[in-house]
Order: sequence, then structure tokens, then C-alpha cells
Amino acid sequence: ARPDERAGAAVKAADRAHVFHSWSAQELIDPLAVAGAEGSYFWDYDGRRYLDFTSGLVFTNIGYQHPKVVAAIQEQAARLTTFAPAFALEARSEAARLIAERTPGDLDKIFFTNAGADAVEHALRMARLHTGRPKVLSAYRSYHGGTQTAINVTGDPRRWASDTGTAGVVHFWAPFLYRSRFYAETEEQECARALEHLETTLVFEGPGTVAAIILETIPGTAGIMPPPAGYLAGVREICDKYGIVLVLDEVMAGFGRTGEWFAADLYDVVPDLLTFAKGVNSGYVPLGGVAISGEIAETFAKRPYPGGLTYSGHPLACAAAVATLGVMAEEGVVENAARLGEHVVGPALRELAGRHPSVGEVRGVGMFWALELVRDRETREPLVPYNATGEANAPMAAFAAAAKAHGLWPFVNMNRTHVVPPCNVSEAELKEGLAALDAALSVADEHTG
Ligand code: PLP
Repeated sequence: ARPDERAGAAVKAADRAHVFHSWSAQELIDPLAVAGAEGSYFWDYDGRRYLDFTSGLVFTNIGYQHPKVVAAIQEQAARLTTFAPAFALEARSEAARLIAERTPGDLDKIFFTNAGADAVEHALRMARLHTGRPKVLSAYRSYHGGTQTAINVTGDPRRWASDTGTAGVVHFWAPFLYRSRFYAETEEQECARALEHLETTLVFEGPGTVAAIILETIPGTAGIMPPPAGYLAGVREICDKYGIVLVLDEVMAGFGRTGEWFAADLYDVVPDLLTFAKGVNSGYVPLGGVAISGEIAETFAKRPYPGGLTYSGHPLACAAAVATLGVMAEEGVVENAARLGEHVVGPALRELAGRHPSVGEVRGVGMFWALELVRDRETREPLVPYNATGEANAPMAAFAAAAKAHGLWPFVNMNRTHVVPPCNVSEAELKEGLAALDAALSVADEHTG
């Protein structure tokens, strides 16, 4: 990339004058002006290049600018850029067929949305209509999207300001042994007690009032916490016992992130509805959706489904999905994530944890890993308090700045950093990123003890 500081300054000035950014105090942010990206890297206008350990917001599962997907979007644009949703179109039909082939069990009908949040909105609407019940149960440590129902079922602090329309949402604690709510000391205890807590919550809410339980198969933004063996199977049993729809949100965990096509495949659990977005086409064109079981599809066989979007199954987005799924199969992207996760990232992160007192726990699978950063390994006090901002968040800000100074763009959320590079990342790129992470953790170490 040729440095072009003047162009960068113009991009930045127009952004600051007119772009209103997500989740931000508008005058307290300083967005980097990005000039380009390719594969696992992006660069700014000053010629600085970063290895992207965030995959954007965990969506570029095949990296940036994959030539086959770019070409497929260009070809679709030349042939049929857009068309209304009520028609049968080649790109949409083929995308639905390929997705249904990969989703678990009998999730064979695909409702397309524009992204993840509206996939969650529609999944919960389907569950409420299918059961005729009003309520939804979801986990505190979760993120399900920024629209009204999706933000209400979300557990993290982004929900708080939007809790005006929460009718029918009840939160519970999902298992997380490292910060157990159940005084558990083993995964088995955590699993059994979390299931007991969920069923008791359900009984006190009135199971006949609950339409759905929604869970991220592996919670993502909330901390990448693979559930203990048996937990999701237990939730499935509870749902079956009380006639409740199980929604697994795979917006972040799906399409190769965990080293399987879907995280549900890791646990042999089949939900009634599965939400997806992000990795379905690596985010090249906005696309999400709901994969629907035979039984729920049957509810809307003769009765109209009351929901839709102008761009449901947009041809450009669907053509990008068809090409992405083709690339993932041809290039063994899912297998790459599984193999390098197990043999490179996992061992390297555990080795870093052995040397850096700021690392409290390492957890993850595939290209989906979290480091829990702490002040004290014994007490497990987080490196920064829950939802910290400003001065209170300074240790995490210093960690992130150190990573960037070493050419690594890190994913940072509260007291955690997540290692979530593209699923087709190479071993050499991982080693480069892990070396930068090593240096940045030394800065976090200064805030321990
Ligand atoms: N569900 C999960 C698990 C997510 O991680 C996200 C976004 O990060 C969403 C839903 C919302 O997706 P979107 O931002 O595409 O609306």
C-alpha cells in the first residue's frame, strides 16, 4: 500500500463531521481511517499494516477480499443486482439449499434477513406464534443484537438503555465455571447446577408461558465460554419436556468459527431454530437468517408468516454466500480452523498463560478463543471492573495500544481479549500475532499484583 496521508485525513475529517458511530460517545472516539485490506491484514493511509485478530466483528471467516467471492459478487451485479423477495431466484435458491445442507438435523427451510439481530427478532416471533406463548428466557452473559427484541434478550450492559420494551424476557445464568454463580468446583457440578437453576426459573415463570429459550451455542462477545459436556443436551431435554422452542444463536459461532460448520455439531444438539449471519458470506454483503425445523415450518404451511423484509435473500448477498460456502469447502477452511486451533492457538495461549500473571484463564476451540485478564490469579479479580470506562479501563486500553504498536489489531471486551482471526489464517500469521500478543500481555502484567 502506498502511504497517502492527505487522502486519509479527508476520510477522517468527513467521518468526524458526519458519521454517527455505533455504541459510542461521538466526541470521545478516534476511528482509524482504513485504506484497504487483504486476507488476514488491513492497512491505514499512513502505510501501517495490522494483522486482524478480530475478523472485523468476528465475521471475515475467509479473510478480506477473497478473489473468488469478489468475482461472484461482480458477476451477480452484472447479471441481476437486485430483485424483490417474492420471486424464485437462482442465487437465493442455491444459497438456501447450501445452508440447509449444512445446518444440523431437519433445519431445512431458510428465512433470510439482513443480519444477525433481525434473524433473532424473527426466530423469536416464530417461536411465539408457533407456541402461542409470550415469554422468552435468555442468558445474562450473552449478546443477541441491537434491535428491540434482540437487545432485550441480550444480557450485557448494552441492554440497559433499551429495557423499556422488555415484556416477556427473563434472564438466567448459563454455566461458566471460572466465575461460577453456583459455587461449583467441577464442570460436572456447574452443568448440573446450571440445569437445575434453569428448570427452577422455568417452573417459577410458568412453563406454559414460555415460548423459547435462546442461547448462543458458545457465547461469543460475552467471553467465549464453551458449555460443559451435557449442558446443551440438558437444555434440549428441558425444552422438550415443557414444549418450549430451543433457539441456538450461531450468528458468531456458525460457519466454521469453532472448527465445525456449526457449534451445535460439537455438542450433537439440534435446535428448533438456528440463527446465522456474519460467516455465512464472511460479511462481504449484509446477510443473516433463520434455519427452521420441519415442525415449525409446518405451522406456517397454510397460515401466513407475519414478517418480511424488502431485501430478504438479496441476490448480491446470496451470491456472496454461495461463493463463500464454495471457497470454504474447496479450501478446507473449517478443517483449518479446527486443526490450527487445536495444534497452534490452544497450546500457544496456554504457554502464554504460564508466563503472564495477567492471564487468568484460556478457553476456546477452533478460531474462537478468549483470554480472561485478571489483577490476581488467586482471587480472579478482573483486570478492569465490569463495564469500566475511562480511567478505570486504562489497563485494557494500554494492553490494546501495545498490541497495535506491535502490528496486531486485538479484540477487546471488558477484561478479556479474544483471539478470533479469520478461519483460513495461516500458521505463520498466527505465530506473528501470538508474538505480538506476548508483548502486549507484558503491558497487562504491569497492572497485576
Ligand atoms: N447474535 C450474536 C451471537 C452476535 O454475536 C451478534 C453480533 O455480534 C448478533 C446476534 C447481532 O448481529 P448483527 O450485528 O449482524 O445484527
